Amino acid sequence: MAENNMGGQQVLLLPEGASRLLGRDAQRTNIAVAVAVANAVKTTLGPKGMDKMLVSDLGDIVITNDGATILEEMNVEHPVAKILVDVAKTQDREVGDGTTSVIITAGGLLKGAEDLLEQGIHPTIIIKGYKMAAGKAAEILSKYSKSVEISDEQTLQKIAMVSMGSKNIGDDSTKAQISKLVIKAVKQVMEKTQDGKYRIDHDFIKVEKKAGGSIADTALINGVLIDKEVAHPGMPKSLTNAKIALLDVALEIEKTETDAKIEITSPDQIQSYLQQEERMLKEMVEKVKKSGANFVVTQKGIDDMAQHYLAKAGIMAVRRVKKSDIEKLSKATGAKIITSLDDLNSEDLGHAGIVEERKIAGEQMVFVEKCKDPKSVTIFVRGGTQQVIDEAERSLNDVIGAVSATIENDGRYVIGGGSIEIDIADELRNYSGQVGGREQLAIQKFADALEGIPKTLAESAGIDAIDTLVQLRSKHKAKDGKIYGVDVYRNAIGDMTKAGVFEPEKMKVQSIYSASEAAEMILRIDDIISSRGRSPGGQGGAPGMPPME
Ligand code: ADP
Ligand code: MG
Repeated sequence: MAENNMGGQQVLLLPEGASRLLGRDAQRTNIAVAVAVANAVKTTLGPKGMDKMLVSDLGDIVITNDGATILEEMNVEHPVAKILVDVAKTQDREVGDGTTSVIITAGGLLKGAEDLLEQGIHPTIIIKGYKMAAGKAAEILSKYSKSVEISDEQTLQKIAMVSMGSKNIGDDSTKAQISKLVIKAVKQVMEKTQDGKYRIDHDFIKVEKKAGGSIADTALINGVLIDKEVAHPGMPKSLTNAKIALLDVALEIEKTETDAKIEITSPDQIQSYLQQEERMLKEMVEKVKKSGANFVVTQKGIDDMAQHYLAKAGIMAVRRVKKSDIEKLSKATGAKIITSLDDLNSEDLGHAGIVEERKIAGEQMVFVEKCKDPKSVTIFVRGGTQQVIDEAERSLNDVIGAVSATIENDGRYVIGGGSIEIDIADELRNYSGQVGGREQLAIQKFADALEGIPKTLAESAGIDAIDTLVQLRSKHKAKDGKIYGVDVYRNAIGDMTKAGVFEPEKMKVQSIYSASEAAEMILRIDDIISSRGRSPGGQGGAPGMPPME
């Protein structure tokens, strides 16, 4: 079938067995897939959203509410579904939170586009309208956003709590405790840039987890936790005022040195060879000792003999530590990473109030804590089961993202619970009138898609979605009514400022742009060529996709 007719001559364009969908068929299929993906994650939105349990081929279980994780674990195969997975991942990387919303919005945009395509409106017009609407939405967002001072812990905490709200990881007091901890961590590692803004490198808030204890035992460590044990039983297990040497060099005799052929003709020679090796190791330890270090961390190995000498010198050591952990230790303790022992001297050492090996859930871990003004910290997550701590870790990623996104963006935040989406939708509808032409229809669809957020929140709370939208729209038109959103706990519309439902402006902007770009990308496709011997559309939709609702 894959053939073109050129001047009466048949031209074979595609290999045998390839299949092809063109024009409206291609669009229809792609949109159906996108809507199916959106439907699959929709029920998890908001604090009343449900969790999903995903079971892998190997029987591993993931229980989560996190949009990006669900899509990733679903192993979707259809290329359009993959685009949406990428969008969720980008949102996750850029802001850490808002992944479900971005997928719901993208699904809504494509559903709206389907109506317009059906009316014969060309995709390029829809794309143009969507682009205009996204830009306008960002403008509207900045108009409606307010600013929180960095010192205003109360408001920051509300933003953190909303981000954690939908995750099933303990009661409100635990969530409040974790929010505080995250805010502290973010403030600890943030750095002021030249333009007076703050920057937060998420890599320097390490999340370490161990099943056991309860989620309420989750703690902030002003330093780094190393998931390793002290190298030798004779070494100290606890130090105060540790002086820390970070090595990217082994305390071993290099293989190449011993590989050199040595001819041994008498037992004396073996003896002298071993003595020489021992002397070299002893010298290495001497260099460490001379620097004044009492705690050594190396990315490489430590020979048994070197361990023995270190222990004898009262030096604690940990070996084969991940490069990323060494970097974090450097940020936290101020130690310089040394690549040659000859360079090691006292100025290169870092400092920590306490270094201690502790047994956690049957395994030894080394705590490097009480660092002075560390630029790298660790949140140590505890919880009853692996599933609980895994979800807690995902949630921490969201909260760290939400708090950082707020602080990095001059503290700007908006009212959540579907409230801001009602305002953007309203202003977009006004704007569409000014734009006119066919683009205005696309801008109106964009407004509808954004209202998918309050609509879905209402559905999750079990209240009538259409009634809710009507009520919210009318409240928002009234004086002082812009604070209304879906109060999911009272199953009615309510004052979101009272409920403290605040969200970072940056997260909303990113989610609107990403959703719009994904929709545009999918709308541009009018030809799906599949050379994998599968039908790109056809019965049952895409392979690997959940059934359509
Ligand atoms: P996402 O992955 O998009 O962040 P969530 O499941 O975290 O999805 O849900 C976020 C949505 O839930 C946002 O629209 C937010 O405003 C809303 N939300 C969060 N907490 C509340 C609350 N207490 N009341 C009403 N809406 C809330
Ligand atoms: Mg969220």
